[in-house]
Amino acid sequence: MSRPKKKRMVFQPPLYTSFKPMGVRMNTLEQITLSLDELEAIRLSDYLGKEHAEAADEMEISRSTFTRLVEKAHTKVSRFLLEGKHLYIEGGDVHFRGNILRCEHCGHMFKTGFDIIINFCPACGSSELMDLAGSFGHGNCCKGHSQNPGRK
Ligand SMILES: [Zn+2]
Ligand SMILES: [Zn+2]
Repeated sequence: MSRPKKKRMVFQPPLYTSFKPMGVRMNTLEQITLSLDELEAIRLSDYLGKEHAEAADEMEISRSTFTRLVEKAHTKVSRFLLEGKHLYIEGGDVHFRGNILRCEHCGHMFKTGFDIIINFCPACGSSELMDLAGSFGHGNCCKGHSQNPGRK
């Protein structure tokens, strides 16, 4: 049990991180936290329809670990849908393969890598860019990881 957990690879940071039922006040809702690796498991197997083995490879984890992860994620999402909770996405021992920047001026979102420096929104030219991976505390750590030749 004390074996250090390997970081799981996540394709990119999520665009949306907070969900709640309409018409219910936030402060009355219990919070469910879906981790970034649980969300990635849903993205790969449910959204993209990949087999567990292929999805596990993409996250660089074993197939059995992936199956447990996606089951845990389904349980949380089912509770969110049926019981009415505040679903919040955060945490998880992950690295992102790519990044997304969001322009705080015009709302334009675009994909980028960690080795590319972009200072201005390609749509409106604003410099008010929000680094979505950075908002999860990821930046140079991912850059270091992507330069590792052991990476798939
Ligand atoms: Zn813009
Ligand atoms: Zn990272």
